[in-house]
Amino acid sequence: MKKALISVLVFFSLALFAGAQNFKTYAIGDSEFTALSDSVRMQAKSVLLQPDAEIVKKVLPGDETPGAINGYVLKTPQGIMLFDTGLGANGSLWKSLKEAGIDAKLVRRIFLTHMHGDHIGGLLTPEGKPVFEKAMVYVNDQELEFWLSDKPANKDNIRMAKAVKEAYDARLETFVWGQGITGYITAMEAKGHTPGHTAFLLKCGPEIQDQILVVGDLVHVIPVQFADPSLSVRYDIDPAEAAVTRKKYLDLAFANKYRIAGMHIPFTGVGYVQKGDIGEYKFVPEQ
Ligand SMILES: [Zn+2]
Repeated sequence: MKKALISVLVFFSLALFAGAQNFKTYAIGDSEFTALSDSVRMQAKSVLLQPDAEIVKKVLPGDETPGAINGYVLKTPQGIMLFDTGLGANGSLWKSLKEAGIDAKLVRRIFLTHMHGDHIGGLLTPEGKPVFEKAMVYVNDQELEFWLSDKPANKDNIRMAKAVKEAYDARLETFVWGQGITGYITAMEAKGHTPGHTAFLLKCGPEIQDQILVVGDLVHVIPVQFADPSLSVRYDIDPAEAAVTRKKYLDLAFANKYRIAGMHIPFTGVGYVQKGDIGEYKFVPEQ
């Protein structure tokens, strides 16, 4: 009897442990918010434009800090919505989605924070076919225009954005900042990292704990950019604008006590912005 009980407990702890590695679900108002792991990786501080700044030495004395690629799912009474799609065949977001019990065919809407390869890669099979057969894909109008132009320096990324446009065709829809979609999502201007980089405010009820701010690529080097939001990285297309945006959203999240979710914050990437012990802010993961 006792032995059987222990086996059951061990089984459930292992199951929880296995699940916790690749996905984790949070209650949010009338919905569920699930973090999906695509990749776990270390983030070198050399991607910072000022890796030798005093604050960097204080909060990140080593050369690197844990990083990640995450995606997020919001399961609402109006259907399943996905926020970014990870790397695709080189990541594990598709697997994490399956482990979370979500069939790709049931995803109704996909919201893109921006169109870098580590966010749109999961939209396409290696053959360039749509992975999500029924979903509408939403992207900011200026973001799509940018990646379909000859302005970007990253030509591989242009090719990928064009492949997404071709594969999803009429199911690719643009939004403008300030626009509400489905009653749950508000698209908010967060440009700088890319010209159309967008934060999404998810509202699933009237209370502050019923809301989550998906911040996309606002931050890459944790904890440096929480301690000093003015520090940008090489991936930011407009580093000065990215710094202003980063400060604006960290201030907003701190003032409103919003839960935030970040695509490159170590998994699950869900947590709070709190006053820092050194520097301005620190990231505190949701337990
Ligand atoms: Zn990214």
